[in-house]
Amino acid sequence: MAVLTHGVVILGRFRSHAARVSMSAKPRSFVLAAILCLPLLSGCQGLPHAATPPADRRPGNADVAKPARNVILFLADAGGVSTLSGASLLGYNAPQKLHVQQWPHLGLSDTTPVDEWVSDSANGMSSIVTGVKTRNGVISQGPDAVRGSRDGTPSKTILEYAEERGLLTGVVTTQSIADATPAACYAHANDRKQWGGIFPQAFTPRFGDGVDVLIGAGRGKIGRQLRERGTSFDALAAQYRRPIHAQLGDVPASERRPVVVAERMDVRAATLKALDILEQSPKGYFLMVEWDAHTDDPAQGLQNVVDFDRLVAEVERRVDLDETLLVFTADHSFGFQVDGGGPGQPLLEGFEAWKKTDTEDNEDQPVRLRHVFVNRTHTGEEVAALATGVGAERIHGYFPNTHLFQVMLDAWGWKADDAGR
Ligand SMILES: [Zn+2]
Repeated sequence: MAVLTHGVVILGRFRSHAARVSMSAKPRSFVLAAILCLPLLSGCQGLPHAATPPADRRPGNADVAKPARNVILFLADAGGVSTLSGASLLGYNAPQKLHVQQWPHLGLSDTTPVDEWVSDSANGMSSIVTGVKTRNGVISQGPDAVRGSRDGTPSKTILEYAEERGLLTGVVTTQSIADATPAACYAHANDRKQWGGIFPQAFTPRFGDGVDVLIGAGRGKIGRQLRERGTSFDALAAQYRRPIHAQLGDVPASERRPVVVAERMDVRAATLKALDILEQSPKGYFLMVEWDAHTDDPAQGLQNVVDFDRLVAEVERRVDLDETLLVFTADHSFGFQVDGGGPGQPLLEGFEAWKKTDTEDNEDQPVRLRHVFVNRTHTGEEVAALATGVGAERIHGYFPNTHLFQVMLDAWGWKADDAGR
């Protein structure tokens, strides 16, 4: 029994080394190597350890000798386990064909806010990027916030930690750049609906010089809310001497800190543009990329996940996993289910007929297709958290989503502090 236990521990450690040694990790050859090495090792004491690991590293993570330079957080908004599963079936007509489903490290992340079972994007993302669970509707403030009426204690975000230490930072989204998920990275507010108050916070950072690359949608609605507050994109651009472009294509090649607020965003082009800039950083970077994965329209939602997954694969080919942590997760789950069908049968059979009946009057009604049911609400169960690269082995088992903040911080070798809280 003891031998078996040690064997499992040892295999796990070799697997995590393998993931860092090579982007195209070959688990079978490493497992074989680990088995061959077994007789050489006399229990766990024989394992090589990094010299004097930092005290804030948990046991089991002591073999992370070299900290990460870069962390990229991919956030599929509402992309729970069943949505990832459905995306593989839609995109590849087979289970577990997504690129992220091949990553070596997987955990199940609890998304619940402090006072309910089901999370919105505000609490879900705030918890991931600050390590502090809060209330629905609240953007990176503690649970002492009262939504819409009283500010809570600001929770320092992973982007703020990176800014404080002189790294370059980026936030890219298919959604409004002031919507809850991107906002949780760079702003603090007691109500996610305050877009006119959230967006300008990108120009008044609490740490460093603020988010360097900010690219998303929502131009019309943010513009209206800015006007209600007596300001505008032009006024902010003049005040802070930073152009606010209406399209990605308007950004000059020489611009190092672009802000783009468009009506719609090609998030693949935006992510590649962001990397062109962030990769120039002498100290590394933090990048968050959000792609909407709500399956209110199941064809759109699942296709988004397929496309996002292809982008993740493209980014992974570009970065060096010896110095980069990649994390893929969701802010909360969603009521999407596959409850029928099989190979060769169209997953979304009946979609076209349903789509004709989908009007604003019944937008909250469930979607009933032949093989798919969508209860169009957020749901409370855990979401997948997947990772590869430096420090990714910390992601395993069940954990609260606040653990993801700690994993990102640990990858850089940084300690959490109370500054600015
Ligand atoms: Zn969400």
